[in-house]
This record gives sequence, C-alpha cells and structure tokens, in this order.
Amino acid sequence: MAIQIYNTLSRSKEKLIPIEPGKVRMYLCGPTVYDYFHIGNARPFILFDIFRRYLKYRGFDVKFVVNLTDIDDKIIKKSIDEKIPASDVAKKYTEAFMEDIKKIGIEPADVFPKATENIPEIINLIEKLIEKGMAYIIDGDVFFSVNSFKDYGKLSKRKIDELKSGARIEINQRKKDPLDFSLWKVAKSGEPYWESPWGKGRPGWHIECSAMSMKFLGESIDIHAGGADLIFPHHENEIAQSEGATEKPFVKYWMHNGFLKIDGEKMSKSLGNFFTAREIMEKYHPAVIRMFFLLKHYRSPINFSEERIKEAQQALNRIITTLQNIDLELKGNENEINDTEIILKDSIDEIKKKFIKEMDDDFNTAGAMSNIFDLVKEANLILAKGELSESDRGTLFQIKIIIQEFDSFLNILYFRETLEITTTDDSLMLILIDIRKKLREAKQWALADEIRNKLEEIGIVLKDYPDKTSWHRKK
Ligand code: AMP
Ligand code: ZN
Repeated sequence: MAIQIYNTLSRSKEKLIPIEPGKVRMYLCGPTVYDYFHIGNARPFILFDIFRRYLKYRGFDVKFVVNLTDIDDKIIKKSIDEKIPASDVAKKYTEAFMEDIKKIGIEPADVFPKATENIPEIINLIEKLIEKGMAYIIDGDVFFSVNSFKDYGKLSKRKIDELKSGARIEINQRKKDPLDFSLWKVAKSGEPYWESPWGKGRPGWHIECSAMSMKFLGESIDIHAGGADLIFPHHENEIAQSEGATEKPFVKYWMHNGFLKIDGEKMSKSLGNFFTAREIMEKYHPAVIRMFFLLKHYRSPINFSEERIKEAQQALNRIITTLQNIDLELKGNENEINDTEIILKDSIDEIKKKFIKEMDDDFNTAGAMSNIFDLVKEANLILAKGELSESDRGTLFQIKIIIQEFDSFLNILYFRETLEITTTDDSLMLILIDIRKKLREAKQWALADEIRNKLEEIGIVLKDYPDKTSWHRKK
C-alpha cells in the first residue's frame, strides 16, 4: 500500500506521489528564536522529524528544511526589555533551540536557514510581487494585496469576506484592505534594519518562509508542515505570495498537527499556560515526552496532564524492561544467531507489517505503537517460559531487532538506563506535594512553607497552579 497523507488543502487523505519520483522535499515552520520553546511547540518539532525519518526508512530520499525566524517583533521587544542587541537575543535562543532539540532526540534538519541570512532572496521575491502588481509600497512599508490572488482562502477554506469579518487581523490604516499583510516593514528608530529598494527595514514573517522554501527546496515542494494555528494566516499567505510570484503550485501536501492543550486550552506563550521543553525535560526523561506524543495521532488535540505523561512513562518502561530481559536471556548466545539467516516467524512478520500499515496510513503512530506492544506481549509470553528452546531464542532476537529497526525513526530507546531514576524521583515528589497540599488545606502554612523552602535549598522548585502543583529542578 502506498503512503497516505492527510492534506489540509483537500481535507482528505491522499496517496503520497512526490513531484520527483523517490524524492521528498519537506519544509517545517520552525521557531521564532525569542525564548525557550514550550512543550506544545515540541509536538511538531518531534513528530515531523519522526515522519521525515520514517519516509527515509520507506526508501525516499528526503530533504528536510526547518527555518529559524531570527528577526521579528517579539525578538525586538525582548532586545529592548533586556537591553541587548536583537541579534544577541536570536543567537542565545537559537543555541538553546539546538541544545533542546538534541536533548529531546530530534535529528537536525538538513538545513536550518535563518531569515537574516536570506535577505537578498526575500527582497527579490517582494520585487517580483511588486512588478506583478500584487504588492504595493507605502512610505517604506510593502504590503501584499490579497485581492490580487484569486485563490486566497483556499487552504483555510474561507472566503475573503468571511475572513474580513471574522479574523483577528492587524489594523493598519495605511493598508488598502484590512486583510493585506506586510511583506516588508519599515525600520523604526533604533530597530535593526537591512537596506532594500524601499528603504531601511526588515522582512515580514510570511515572506521569509516562502523565500527560504523556494531557495532550499525549489518553487514547488512536496510537504509543508506546521501546527494547525499556522493554517491562517501564515500558510494561506505563503500560498498567495509564492503562487502569486511563480504561478506554480507551491506545496503538494499541507500537513498540520493538532494542539497540545492544557486544561482544555491551547498551550501558548501569550496565555501564559505553558511549560518550556527544558523545564519538562528536567522532570521527565525526553524519551517519555516522545512517547507521550507518539501515543496519540498527530492531528488530534492532546491534553497535557501528569496522568498522560505517567501512562507514557509506563508504556515506555514496558518496552525497555522487555528489551532488557531479552538481552539477559540472549547474553552470550547472540553471535550464534545469524540474523541474515533468520526467517521471521509468521506471527512476528504479521505484526511488523501491521506497524508499517499504520504508519503508512497518515503516520498513525498511535496504531503503530499498539503493534509494538503486541511484540512486547509476544516476547513476554516466551520469557515467562521456564526453559527456552532454540526457536524461542530466535523469536526473541527477531523481536528485539524489529523494535530496534523501528527505533531508527521513533528514537524512544535512547538513554534507557536513566528511566527508572526519573520514576522514583517523581513518585517521591508527588508524595511531598500531596502532604504540602493537605497542610495548606489545614491552614498549617508554616509547615507547608518549610517543605517548599527546604526543597528550594536542594534545588527543587514548586510551581502552584489553581488546582495543582508541579515541580522542576532549578537551572
Ligand atoms: P511558534 O514559535 O509560536 O511559531 O511555534 C512553532 C511551532 O509550534 C508552529 O508550528 C506552531 O504551530 C506550533 N505550536 C504552537 N503552539 C502549539 C501547541 N499548543 N500545540 C501544538 N503545536 C503548537
Ligand atoms: Zn513558516
């Protein structure tokens, strides 16, 4: 069966037929480097990297680009607040991003282009749009005219009129139409700027993705991905600019992940209801975070809760414990099992095929993981026997090899020996947090505060929320 991908553009699953046979060109909208990324942002970063690796596993030659937005309003605001140049803000959080993705087991993209390093390409694209009458200049600002692109709204499936009344769009009296958006922003005093044919300024957010996608992957690409919040306006605008300029289809398959929610609301910086990936990784092993996302379909919303994370941790422990027991059982005998000669047992081969079928079906990791648990179950049945036969050992070996093979893209088995430590720490902390809660309920503030202070002294910080308390280690 061919790989099926749910395409936001058609709102249906479509067979993956790359533009160039055997090659997949894939672009993911990356971070704006003004702060540490939160665990919601981590969802697309982790999953689209897994999908890219899975496509490689299935034989495609994949080129994967993840951009870094290293100049924008939020970066400038931070540079003013912290009294450091915007380029230093971007540098600091780009380094933090690289450290965090490494820790969380994400393979680096083939290219991480930065907006500030691709200004000539961005300017060229804007010039083309101006020449074609699709963009206009007002006092050094350049805007894209949405009315010039007849298909505007095709991704978000909304008509221009509906968008005008419903969307939260930037009010700017100088624009000809409220939906028109910035391609180039004139520099205000003290802001970083680049020279352009329209004066000193900087690129808008949407145009940078169009320009960098075209530069590194070509005018038409296979997959463009990001969170569902990017469908409108970001991706809608990318289509308008790119297809407006080239008159070619910009992207064949648009993929969007569902939100990570917390207490029913989207986790976001602006709502303040977020945990940074760094913070979470101090408390839970990064592989647990990966497992947490893998247990759910990428398009479904997912709620962030301690219970769900615990489930992920238990699921992962189950796999790791079984693999460790297999290792113990095979110790010393592994060399005798020649894997090239091994013919997969029918039942094992069946599970392997089912796993691949699930992944081929729009990357259904939740379904695929259940097949891994079936493999674990098979192994445990054998391990529970008293005496193992030669064929039993062969089957255990096969199971181990298949799980390891899948791990080449899932990457959940790394640092496996540290997992137990996290579990114990966490259980102890839950006991302490619970005692403190009871003390507070009984208005025994002094004792409750003593727990908090003593923990602080040993580098553990408690964070209180209306209905729960979390903990993390001090940086
Ligand atoms: P940003 O830095 O806000 O542009 O976000 C980087 C990526 O994270 C984008 O693909 C967003 O769509 C995605 N994203 C942001 N918030 C969430 C969330 N709560 N759940 C899942 N993805 C998110
Ligand atoms: Zn983008």
